[in-house]
Order: sequence, then structure tokens, then C-alpha cells
Amino acid sequence: MLRRLHSGFWALGVAFGSCSVPRFYSSRLGSELLRSQAYIGGRWLDADGRAQFPVLDPASGQQLTAVSDCGPQEAREAVRAAYNSLASWKAATSKERSNLLRKWYDLMLKNKDELARLITAENGKPLKESLSEILYAASFLEWFSEEARRVYGDVVPTSSPDRRILILKQPIGVASIITPWNFPSAMLTRKAGAALAVGCTVVVKPAEDTPLSALALAELADQAGIPAGVFNVIPSSKSKTPSVGEVLCTDPLVAAISFTGSTATGKILLRQASDTVKKASMELGGLAPFIVFDSANLDRAVAGALASKFRNTGQTCVCANRFLVQEGIHDSFVEKMVKAMQRDLRVGSGFDELTTQGPLINERAVQKVESHISDAVSLGACIVTGGKRHSSGATFFEPTLLSNVTTDMLCAQEETFGPLAPVIKFQTEEEAVTIANASNVGLAGYFYSSNLAQIWRVAEQLEVGIVGINEGLLSTPEAPFGGVKQSGLGREGSKYGVDDYLEIKYVCFGGL
Ligand code: NAP
Repeated sequence: MLRRLHSGFWALGVAFGSCSVPRFYSSRLGSELLRSQAYIGGRWLDADGRAQFPVLDPASGQQLTAVSDCGPQEAREAVRAAYNSLASWKAATSKERSNLLRKWYDLMLKNKDELARLITAENGKPLKESLSEILYAASFLEWFSEEARRVYGDVVPTSSPDRRILILKQPIGVASIITPWNFPSAMLTRKAGAALAVGCTVVVKPAEDTPLSALALAELADQAGIPAGVFNVIPSSKSKTPSVGEVLCTDPLVAAISFTGSTATGKILLRQASDTVKKASMELGGLAPFIVFDSANLDRAVAGALASKFRNTGQTCVCANRFLVQEGIHDSFVEKMVKAMQRDLRVGSGFDELTTQGPLINERAVQKVESHISDAVSLGACIVTGGKRHSSGATFFEPTLLSNVTTDMLCAQEETFGPLAPVIKFQTEEEAVTIANASNVGLAGYFYSSNLAQIWRVAEQLEVGIVGINEGLLSTPEAPFGGVKQSGLGREGSKYGVDDYLEIKYVCFGGL
């Protein structure tokens, strides 16, 4: 099966013709980690009726391969497999679990180039960014392999001399994990690393657009010796996803649901999970403000803006979505930003090493960017650079900057998730903070200033879970990642990342 699939992968040729990627790039795609079936209970299995769905190359729209299309039946099987392996996995010592996570981490590093090529093939991001994602993803396995040994409880002084109070931390049980396409490896390891570290078992449903990275990680988990049933992956197509999601949120054997994706989907999952009162961890959408005050170091602000806005072609949940620039520095910022965009950003296939901007994930994503631009222009915004689909075709889009943007425009109110930088001019610090906080979501927020008092004030006032001060890229395994308001519940990474997978138990020892 595997061999047939591999040759199919080559035969399909990863047809990059329409985006002018030389054919030899297809031979750079690894095949050792390419898997097409679901991974349930330590076995590679077809979905019922051998159902499959195609995985597409976003740079060309061509089919890369096809993978098993799991439905509710496979979801229930995977939950059962995770449940059956729970008792022995949580009984393992933390050192045993730590060692296995460390082996998984080592294997990710050993296979980093191949894993990166899979991301670029199915997601489209530039190979250099895919490699960064793999290192970032692996860092969560390393981090949680270390944290596994530091899940401490407490002994608390009591007011009764004949009693002792103990507080234990125990794994919650089976966790359902639903991940998005924009970081197909890192969003998985950030959740699964924490869950496995503390003794939970998991069922992962990756996004339809990017199942290959999750399946490759299952293969490496298997090679690392993670026991059968501890880590399960069930790919599914968009048409089956709602029914799979329903099983993952309602099955009584599941104790927790962890999701990264849109706020709209998060609300559906929360509603479904409420009936059986599951613990929920939600990493949802944002609308990151990026504020540049008059006192900012302009060059640093432009460099930070470029990094924050255009990583993954603007498709990250912590991407700067609204640029708020103070009037004294506004014109110079726009001028320098446009120069930097035209000089440093290059649109093309992710396999071309000069590319910094790959394709958007699909046609729907392009249409959203277009709709934000046309809405803004119809309300008085000016296109300073970009503004339309890129000549490479498919889902490529020109990096775009809009000036004269006002807060009533769609691009200032909802996440664009694409290469669009809308610039709003403001006069006072109070005005900037008011605009920044006028949203029902609050994931990341950035600002550039060299005024120390202002730095403290604004950092404390921004209604977000993550603040970047004179810094445009913030994610790291040591720091907690998560949002406030409708951007989510819980924190991932850091020493807090295990909390979503733990129960606290109070043990009263009496009659002493
Ligand atoms: P999405 O539609 O919510 O999809 C995310 C995941 O949820 C995919 O695996 C998707 O599967 C699945 N899904 C969709 N509907 C579902 C349902 N009814 N039941 C169960 N699962 C369901 O989001 P997206 O448009 O792909 O991703 C972009 C959004 O994610 C943005 O808003 C972004 O801000 C957010 N995001 C947040 C973070 C964070 O850490 N806070 C990180 C990345 C992305 P299918 O692909 O099969 O539909």
C-alpha cells in the first residue's frame, strides 16, 4: 500500500507547472514519512469503504496524494483505542513518558528536512519557514519532555492537628485535539506534547488541507516507541469533519477537547462539549493591533511589522491585522514599510529558495483578502502597493498596504488572514488603546515606543493575552500562548501548558 502510494506521489508529479516551479523540486519531497491511512491503536487503517479525500498543493491546485477520509465510526474507534491505552500510559513513570517524548523530539530533528518539505507541499509556506516550524514544533516535545518530570502537587498546612492536606495532579483522561492548517506540525505538538507528558492519551483530527504533517508525526511517534493507542490520528475531509468533531466533543470516554482554529468553530465545539461537561482549551482567532508611537525606532518598527504581518503570507493567528500609526511618524512609516515590502517580499512557490510569500491556503482565503480590500477602497482607503492577485496565478496574492483606513472598514474589524497591511492614523495614546481594545477578541498585540512610562501603561491596558513591545515575533515554548475575550480559553506552551490536561485532587488524610 505504502509503496503504491509513494509511486503515486511521484507519478502525480506534484505538478507545479502552473506556478513555474522546476519539476526537479518534486524529487526533493521526501517519501519515507508519507502516510495515507489513519493511525488508530498503533495500526495504519483505511477508513470505512476505503474512503479517501485528495490533498492539494495550494501553489497549483493539483492533487498531491489522497488520504483516508475518516468519519464518526473511525472517530469512535480512535477514542476507544485512546481510552484502552490510558490506564497503562498514566501508570508509566513521568521519567518513562519523558524519555519517549524526548525520542520523538530527536526523531523530528533527524527528519526535519523531510517534515519541512511535507509542510511546504501541503501548506505552501516557504521551505525556510517550514523548517522553522518543524524546529518550533519539536521544541514543544522537548519542553514537555522536561515538564513531564515537574508536575508537582502540594502539601498544605491545615487547621486541624490530626489531618494533613495533600493536593495531587492527575491526568484528565482522553483528550480530543483538533488542529488547523496554518501550523500543521506546531499546533499538534504544542497540544499533544503537553497531554502525553502528564499521562493523557489523545485523538488528533488535523485540518483537511494538511493531514500529511500529522500522519508523518504519527509515524515518528510509532518509531519513538510511544505505545499503541496513546497517540491516534484520524484525517477527515471538510464534509465529514462536523460529524467527526461531534464524536470528539460528545463521546463519554473523552475528558477534554483542545482546539485551535476559528472562533466560530470554537463556539460550535464548546456547545457540543457542554453536555458532557468536558474540559475545553480553545486557541481561537485574533485581530492583532500593531501600534507605532511617535517615539518608536522607525526602522525597528518597520522590520517588526514586516515579520509580524507577512510570516506564512499573513496566515497566522498572531499576525498584525491592524497597523495604528501616530500622526507624527505616519507618513515616514508608510513610505519605509512600502519600500521594505517591495524590496524584501517575493511571491512564489515555497520550494523556490528566494520566496518569502507562498500561496494562500485556498480560493476562499483569497476571496476574503479581496473582499477586505474592495470594502476598504469603497469606503475611502488607498492602495499604496499590491491590491490584487499575483501574476503567478492559483492562490498567490500581492503583498498589499492600504492607507487612509478607518475603524468602520471590514479589514479593521475582522481577521484578514492574508498579506494585507491596513494602516490607520491616530493622534493620542488614549485613542490608539481605545481602537486596539474595540474588539471582542484579544490574542496578540504589538507596539513600538521608546517612552518607558508609555510602555508600562500600554502593555497593561491592551486587552490581549500576548504583548510584543518593540518585538514582532513572540512565540516560544517557554512562554504561555493564548488569548482573552473570544480568542480562547487556556494557555499552551510554558509551565502552564500542562494545566489543561490535569485534574486537581484534594486528599484529606485524617485521624493522625
Ligand atoms: P477552522 O475552520 O475553525 O478550522 C480549524 C480546524 O477545525 C480544522 O481542523 C477544521 O477541519 C476543524 N473544523 C472545522 N469545523 C469543524 C466542526 N464543525 N467540528 C470539528 N472540527 C471542525 O479554521 P480555519 O479557517 O481553518 O483556520 C483559520 C482560523 O484559525 C483563524 O481564525 C485563526 O485565527 C485561527 N487560528 C488560531 C490559532 C491560535 O492559536 N489561536 C492558531 C491558528 C489558527 P477541516 O479543515 O476539515 O474543516
